[in-house]
Amino acid sequence: MVRQGSGQTPGPGKIPPDSSFSPADGAAGPVRARYTTGEITILADEAIRAANSSLNEIAAVQPEQRTISNTLIRFEKTMGDFTDRTAPLTLMAYVYPDRAIADEGSLAEEKAGTFSIEVFTRRDLYDAIRGQVHGTPEELRLYTNTIRLFERNGLALPDDKVSLVRDWKSNLARMETRFSSNLNNDNISLEYRADELEGVPREALATLAKPKNGTYLVTTKYPDYYAVMKNANRSETRKRMLYAFVNRQAGENTKLLEDAIMVRQQIAHELGYKTWADYKTDGRMAKSQENVVNFLAELKEPLKTRIRTELAGLLEIKRTIEPGATDIRSWDILYLQELQRRQQYALDDEIIRQYFPLDVVTAGMFDQYSGLFGVDFVEEKDVKVWAEGVRLYRVVNQSNGSTQACIYLDLFPREGKYGHLMTSGLIGGRMENGSYSIPVTAIVGNFRAPNNGIPSLLSHDDVVGLFHEFGHTLHNSLTTAPYASLSGYNVEWDFIETPSQAFENWAWEPDVLDSLSGHYTDHSKKIPPELRNRLIRTRDMDTGVVYGRQLMIATEDMEFHTTKGPVNVTGISERLYQEIMGIPPIEGGHEPATIGHFMGGYDAGYYSYLWSNVYALNIYERFRKDGLSNQTTGRDYKRWILEPGNMQDGSVLLRGFLGHEPGIGPFYKHLGITRGINASTPVDHEK
Ligand SMILES: [Zn+2]
Repeated sequence: MVRQGSGQTPGPGKIPPDSSFSPADGAAGPVRARYTTGEITILADEAIRAANSSLNEIAAVQPEQRTISNTLIRFEKTMGDFTDRTAPLTLMAYVYPDRAIADEGSLAEEKAGTFSIEVFTRRDLYDAIRGQVHGTPEELRLYTNTIRLFERNGLALPDDKVSLVRDWKSNLARMETRFSSNLNNDNISLEYRADELEGVPREALATLAKPKNGTYLVTTKYPDYYAVMKNANRSETRKRMLYAFVNRQAGENTKLLEDAIMVRQQIAHELGYKTWADYKTDGRMAKSQENVVNFLAELKEPLKTRIRTELAGLLEIKRTIEPGATDIRSWDILYLQELQRRQQYALDDEIIRQYFPLDVVTAGMFDQYSGLFGVDFVEEKDVKVWAEGVRLYRVVNQSNGSTQACIYLDLFPREGKYGHLMTSGLIGGRMENGSYSIPVTAIVGNFRAPNNGIPSLLSHDDVVGLFHEFGHTLHNSLTTAPYASLSGYNVEWDFIETPSQAFENWAWEPDVLDSLSGHYTDHSKKIPPELRNRLIRTRDMDTGVVYGRQLMIATEDMEFHTTKGPVNVTGISERLYQEIMGIPPIEGGHEPATIGHFMGGYDAGYYSYLWSNVYALNIYERFRKDGLSNQTTGRDYKRWILEPGNMQDGSVLLRGFLGHEPGIGPFYKHLGITRGINASTPVDHEK
């Protein structure tokens, strides 16, 4: 995933002088890394003040004196400066070791978010920018994009309607916040006797509360949920857990979601769209709800076929422990998949880790891409960073030795640090005064830290995750787009995950795995081929169920947001579960109430996971055909996908790189589906 600039327009600006500079700590890096109490707040407030004063000047230009450069271009520069000043401050909310200073980062992020909403609902700015004569195609692209941001907030409407839309939007935002905080704060626990938890690993049991002799309290948080669903031998135990899991906050959240869907219908209608899905897809690759609905419909039958095959395999496994079993229940799936992993692939995560020390993996990853893209990755030592263990790399252009970008890797857990894996842009790419900025990007993660002389050792999931984030990072680093709001990964929302998902494929290739591996006691010992091949085989084990679930939620999401009038979210969800999975859902569940995406920005957007992945697999297929280290292909990828940012539509860029329309074929191939599929059938979304 990516964390995007709060001002909607990342781009470089003045780096505040590092006042806490001390030579003993190393030199100041490309962004400020140390703060004393109060500084982040002061710097964020200054950034808002500076941006406001520039925006007021733009709005004050008399109509007859307005030019593209004193309105649109200046607006772009102002917002770019703002994001460059605030993005490094707001990142500190996620990574800074001192809690009080991290809290200032959170506050700064909130202020920057509010500021950005205020800007894009200002009629005086909209009026100043609108209608400016645009000279070049680049300026026209910028103009269209900027005006769209204003008009999506209703600024094309008369003032009374704008305030209506603004009220509905803030009402919607409150409902969404309520929905997610309900889930975050949900503290339902189930009490189980020890014998009911038979099969759950000792390590997981050790983390559970024990209210009275012989019983355990199990929460519905992910680690507990998975520990039970994957390992508990008793069917009844898993059923109880699944029931509780799909009923978290069922009452209030079902109502909040259904009410929010009604408010969304009103907003869409007022803004002149047929449905909320049409509103959300406008300006995205998908362009309209029909294209998404058709895309999902096309995947349905092939995925259903694949799921049926996988479930038949799981039934065989079920019969090894329960002879005579005739069906699979929804609470069996995770358990049987785990059993399959152990029975058929005999994989031990700890042994795999020994072959993937972080340093060997990063060096191997840099090697893969430096040849392809003509850049070197050079570690900058003795530079000030925000915490121990954070590293800084310069991306150096091989042809002229210039620094093209900077990348921070902050990959070890710390108390209070962000708990997942993400990429965060700190300084955006843009052209200014005849020279190009140096984009700065950070990858933040939580890999196992070095301990007792043993280096950081990655699981294979970690390796895949690192490649994913590196896909985002190079997108941000190698951009040459002239405007900050259109550079790097500021692309169409349903295209963002394409470069990242494309890179994941490298981490499954035998040769790449060899070059990434080296036993931590002796780097010359690569992962044994037999182990490596067993690992690679697990990739295809459950793709049907995994993508089938994505398809199910994406289809629900589109039904919710294309219907007129009240929607019964639970009913729709149950019908689609039965249809796609081919087995009944658990009785009495309320799953939509528990899916944060519907109320967390992925509304009418869940499809983008599958959508981006289809394109990612098209991209990867060309690399496979041409050779993973084919430099011509690498240069084409750089030119067509990494450099342009959002200066052209994603569909144009894909066509440019592929030399033809992207097709659904590579995705079906990935799923092992060939029957009746014409591999060159284009994805039908460009009507
Ligand atoms: Zn991502």
